[in-house]
Amino acid sequence: MSITKNLQNIISSIPPTVTLVAVTKNHSVENLQELYSSGHRQFGENKVQEMMDKYNALPKDIEWHLIGHLQTNKVKFIAPFVTLIHSVDSLKLLQEINKQAQTSNRIIRCLLQVYIANEETKFGFSLNEVVELIESGELEKLDNISIKGLMGMATNTDNESQINEEFAGLSRSFNILKNKPVSKNVTFDILSMGMSADYKMAIKNGSTMIRVGSLIFA
Ligand SMILES: *Cc1c(COP(=O)(O)O)cnc(C)c1O
Repeated sequence: MSITKNLQNIISSIPPTVTLVAVTKNHSVENLQELYSSGHRQFGENKVQEMMDKYNALPKDIEWHLIGHLQTNKVKFIAPFVTLIHSVDSLKLLQEINKQAQTSNRIIRCLLQVYIANEETKFGFSLNEVVELIESGELEKLDNISIKGLMGMATNTDNESQINEEFAGLSRSFNILKNKPVSKNVTFDILSMGMSADYKMAIKNGSTMIRVGSLIFA
């Protein structure tokens, strides 16, 4: 396995405007150190405890993305350092993030996770719920939150046209929301979609941030 080479291959295959979050879940601190040494700084983890352990063990200029389901009682552990929470799936969670961000004297950037897959296991809002949330006026009360966009995961399937449709649908909604003035803490400029198996299709559909794990550590 050559982490550095894999990383370079991926970076050279994506436009410079697309951000690569290296998904480091289940990988050792030594492997993350190698990724760091090759110059990468955007790391993604899906579990709070694992992210904290790695944050404590590694250099402090790494930017940590939380990409997995987040329980409200765990927000306080990551609030002091997390760079972007991709997996916001309720107003209650946003309110807790806001509270903990206040305590840490920070503004925490968040994405709303949208449920686009044809699977029952995935968390997230429906697109209607996102629109309702935005129109509810609740977001503007959250002074320590900055909503930066949407995150979605396509169905885990070999059916490429289905994946393509799911990404295209999310992208259409993203572009509509982007042009809708809401409040100063809501600006849609990040569309987080695409993983190892489908990131090329995600980029074709307008993704600005991909979350790739297994390809880097293959
Ligand atoms: C694990 C994970 C990824 C990366 O998946 P790979 O197939 O390993 O690239 C991306 N997003 C989320 C939310 C994940 O949990």
